[in-house]
Amino acid sequence: MKIKERFVFLLCSDCKNRNYTTHKRQKATYKLEKKKYCRFCRKHTTHKERKL
Ligand SMILES: [Zn+2]
Repeated sequence: MKIKERFVFLLCSDCKNRNYTTHKRQKATYKLEKKKYCRFCRKHTTHKERKL
C-alpha cells in the first residue's frame, strides 16, 4: 500500500523564513513543530509548518 505524503515548509517563528521542507502523511492532523537551526537568526528556533 502506498502512503500518500505531502510536502510542507518549516518556517522560522522569529524571521518567518522558509528554512526547511519536509513531508508528512496526507491525513495527519497534527502540526509539525521542530527546533531547528535558522541561518538567518543564527540560532536554534522553533520552526512551524506551512503548506507549500
Ligand atoms: Zn529565523
